[in-house]
Amino acid sequence: MKVGIIRCQQTEDLCPGNTDFKVAAEGVRAFEETGPVEIMGFVSCGGCPGKRAVGRAKVMVERGAKAIAFASCISRGNPIGMACPHFAAMRESVRNAVSTDIFLIDYTH
Ligand code: SF4
Repeated sequence: MKVGIIRCQQTEDLCPGNTDFKVAAEGVRAFEETGPVEIMGFVSCGGCPGKRAVGRAKVMVERGAKAIAFASCISRGNPIGMACPHFAAMRESVRNAVSTDIFLIDYTH
């Protein structure tokens, strides 16, 4: 399965996202149910309040993503313990923007 990952733009300076690639390739943590997946896109939310995530998710779906995952920096606040205050609204907007057969995954690890 091809997965597009959306990450927090605020943590790009701190984290290269290597754990996301590792858990996706190994099919562990958030990918235990799907098994190993291919990351076909790895983009940021575009900055607060995350509105650009919607268009970016749509493009990733158009280009083959069958699931959109919100990286743990968004939903869990990794690696500094500050979760995104806009996560719920961002998720809902992405949910409304892509087909219902696209899985949304709320964290990565
Ligand atoms: S909207 Fe959330 S995920 Fe995006 S930069 Fe701001 S805090 Fe990070």
